[in-house]
Formats: sequence, C-alpha cells, structure tokens
Amino acid sequence: MKKRVQRNKKRIRWSSVLTVFVLLIGIIAIAFAAVHLLSPKANTSQKSSQTSRQEKTKSTVPSSSSQPKETKWLTGTNENQLPILMFHYVTSRADQLPQDSNNINIVTFENELKALKSQGYTTVSGTDAQKILTTKEKPSDKMVWLTFDDGSVTMYTDIFPLLKKYNMHATNFIITGFVNKAQGGILSWEQIKEMKASGLVDFGSHTVSHPDLGTQTLEDQRTELEQSKADLDKNLNQ
Ligand SMILES: [Zn+2]
Repeated sequence: MKKRVQRNKKRIRWSSVLTVFVLLIGIIAIAFAAVHLLSPKANTSQKSSQTSRQEKTKSTVPSSSSQPKETKWLTGTNENQLPILMFHYVTSRADQLPQDSNNINIVTFENELKALKSQGYTTVSGTDAQKILTTKEKPSDKMVWLTFDDGSVTMYTDIFPLLKKYNMHATNFIITGFVNKAQGGILSWEQIKEMKASGLVDFGSHTVSHPDLGTQTLEDQRTELEQSKADLDKNLNQ
C-alpha cells in the first residue's frame, strides 16, 4: 500500500516535470516566432523587397516622354559639334510665308522631322545645347538643335502640334517687346507658357524690339539683351 502511494507520488512528480517542460518549449517557440516575424529587421527586409518590386515596376513602365534630358548622356573625348537647323516661319498658309530661305512649308517641315526621327536623331533644348557646346558630354551621337527666331504665332498653330506628334524638341527665340505689346502674328505669353510646360519647347531672347544690334550703341545693345532676358525670367520663371 505504502509502495503504491510512493509510486503514484513519483508518477505525479514526473508528469508535472513533463508539463513544465512542454510549457517551456511552447514559450520558447512563441518567443522565437515573435522575434523573427515582428522584429524591425523583418520589417526592413519586407520593405526592401517591396521597394525593389516597386523599382522593377517603375523601370518596366515605359516613360510617357522620351525627352533628351531623360536620356543617359555619353561622355566623349573630343569637343562636341552640334548641327543647328534654323527656321523662322513654317506654315501651310502662303500669305504667312515670306519668301526667304529660313521659311518653309509645313509639309516639308514635317518630312524633315520624320527624316530626323527615322535616322535616330535626338533633338536638344537650349540648356542641352549649352552643355553640349561647353563640355564633352552629349545625349547621343546623333543630335540636332531645332531653332526658331522671332516668335511667330505659327510656332503654336503649326509647329507645336508636330513637335507633340513626333515628341521632338525645339527652341524659340522671341522678341519680348512684340509679345508684351500683343503684336499681331506673334505668340502670346499664354501660348508660350503652354508650350514651355509641355517640355517640348524652350524660349530664349531675340531682343526686345528686333533692331540690328550691329548698328546700336553699346548702351542700347545692353538694354535689348538685359530687358529681354528680364522679360523671359519674369514670365517663364527661368
Ligand atoms: Zn529675327
């Protein structure tokens, strides 16, 4: 009888030891899971895998615009040479087209854009041109600067739609006094701002009143340059 009681006591002691052991294992397992699933390290690695997924998604989404400034520039060893195509008026309206070698018909102009595009030319901005001509960097081996003088309204009505169609860039040098006076046949600041916002056209100075600078006094030359730059800076925040 005594022996059986002792055996039972022993059994109870062993079973409590086993219960405590199982409980301990359980606690350790929960602690282990908590540390590894909820630690900042786990969060960081989750975050970084999310980031790399986002980056992958970003890189596979085609860019809506293939502007020269977004392309990776090359670094050459020689001084760059930049072909510049200078235009004044491009229009389908014969009455708006003074007979001059700087002026061409819109159909010819579109064919020129198509030819440049099919030959893989990159059209650059004024800022790009400055960088190309003062460093050995260039956006592409084939590049061209399309420039327009005088700020004719045909830049907005005829040329801008084609630049959008072919996603090409041009620079227009405007006569700021003519724009300020809202002179007929000349771009308005609203049209200029809209074109600039598109990223396809940028604007530079072509003086205030379009005089022959070679015949002007130094003071007048300075006024024409400084005032036109101030007009551009004020209106276009550039
Ligand atoms: Zn001019």
